[in-house]
Amino acid sequence: MTDPSALVAERVDKLLAELDPATTDQVEFRGRQYDLGLAWVHFPEGFGGLGLRPVLQRDIDRRLHGAGAKLPGARHFFGLTMAGPTIVTNGDEALRQRLLRRAFTGEDAWCQLFSEPGAGSDLAGLATKAVRDGDEWVVSGQKVWNTLAHVADRGMLVARTDPEAPKHKGLTYFALDMHAPGVEVRPLRQITGEAEFNEVYMTEVRVPDGDRIGEVGEGWRVAMTTLMNERTTIGGGGGAPPRGSGAIAEAVRIWDDEVAHKSPAMRDRLVRLWIEAETLRLTNIRAGQNRKAGNPGPEGSIAKLRFAEVNMAIYELCVDLLGADGQVGFDYEMRRAESLGLTGPPGTSRTMFLRARANSIEGGTSEIQRNILGERVLGLPGEPRIDKDLPWSQVPR
Ligand SMILES: Cc1cc2nc3c(=O)[nH]c(=O)nc-3n(C[C@H](O)[C@H](O)[C@H](O)COP(=O)(O)OP(=O)(O)OC[C@H]3O[C@@H](n4cnc5c(N)ncnc54)[C@H](O)[C@@H]3O)c2cc1C
Repeated sequence: MTDPSALVAERVDKLLAELDPATTDQVEFRGRQYDLGLAWVHFPEGFGGLGLRPVLQRDIDRRLHGAGAKLPGARHFFGLTMAGPTIVTNGDEALRQRLLRRAFTGEDAWCQLFSEPGAGSDLAGLATKAVRDGDEWVVSGQKVWNTLAHVADRGMLVARTDPEAPKHKGLTYFALDMHAPGVEVRPLRQITGEAEFNEVYMTEVRVPDGDRIGEVGEGWRVAMTTLMNERTTIGGGGGAPPRGSGAIAEAVRIWDDEVAHKSPAMRDRLVRLWIEAETLRLTNIRAGQNRKAGNPGPEGSIAKLRFAEVNMAIYELCVDLLGADGQVGFDYEMRRAESLGLTGPPGTSRTMFLRARANSIEGGTSEIQRNILGERVLGLPGEPRIDKDLPWSQVPR
């Protein structure tokens, strides 16, 4: 059997010999990357992968980036990190053929349509309904907090298909066409002034049964694939950033360039957070190297929880280091965000301080991560769930 690292190196050589990543159109370059099995290296052959260990993706990305390939942008984010793994794990052959390549190239930008006004932490209680009509489903309901839905072509949609089944059992997962008649996206403005996320209203939207991901009634299980990948991604477990990069780099930059009166107490805070950031980075690298299979498990909640705490603390330190200057320079202008960033470029720590407030909410709150860790990693007794076996239609709301 060919050595996996050698196979990957050979494919990367081939890709770079055929196309120059610095000058080739990104869709074309990423399309060829997909065809050579270098998109998600742990996916099966023919679907953007080579069936190898996920850790090898880092070598691929490092080499391509070193050769001038652009980093994936907002158009790729949800497709790359969540929709791709969800489709390859749960979708049928036709769906994989139709959607995976386009998600990787960014021809289809994706968004996540999970949360609702009455269902966030209690996602399984959601009320958006999908009613079967021949070869189609008719979907009506409202989603909320949907990041970048305004630029999305497809939505990862979980809807209720059987209100008489217990709440976790009556759900089905769809790849919603965001341009279909009846889909309306409205901006939601956040504390930074910009509108990165949205409300999405669906009024009798017709969804072909061919766009269903997984079996009818299996939506909860399919959604778990999405959520575990989301938590690992937010926690930083999807890559191996260099030591001292990200938010902590900005804190060090401010300390070096902008702090006039340096106090030992502030230096102590900075060093402690640098160590925390480095511990998180190393924990993520170790967890990634131990992962033999494609999808992460509940241990992704460790990274998510810790990332939220460390990132918020670092940006708080940045603003404290800036002193009175940290309180000015916000414009609160309403912008439609077209990119995503949990850490910002140099000079943006005032805005990132506000944006970071969301870290302990997005992708599941810190309290929910603690519940998952307690129950599914440590094996502690579960919290009482009195509505678990009731038909959803009888659960008081
Ligand atoms: C920046 C941002 C981006 C987002 N992007 C998306 C997106 O793209 N798509 C999407 O579908 N959603 C998105 N969300 C929504 C996010 O997933 C939800 O906000 C989150 O799951 C919490 O749900 P909620 O807001 O309804 O709060 P609630 O569930 O109402 O929680 C309120 C409070 O109660 C606590 N709580 C609730 N249940 C429990 C429990 N069992 N034990 C202990 N404490 C509990 C929570 O921790 C929280 O503090 C985004 C949110 C943010 C902030």
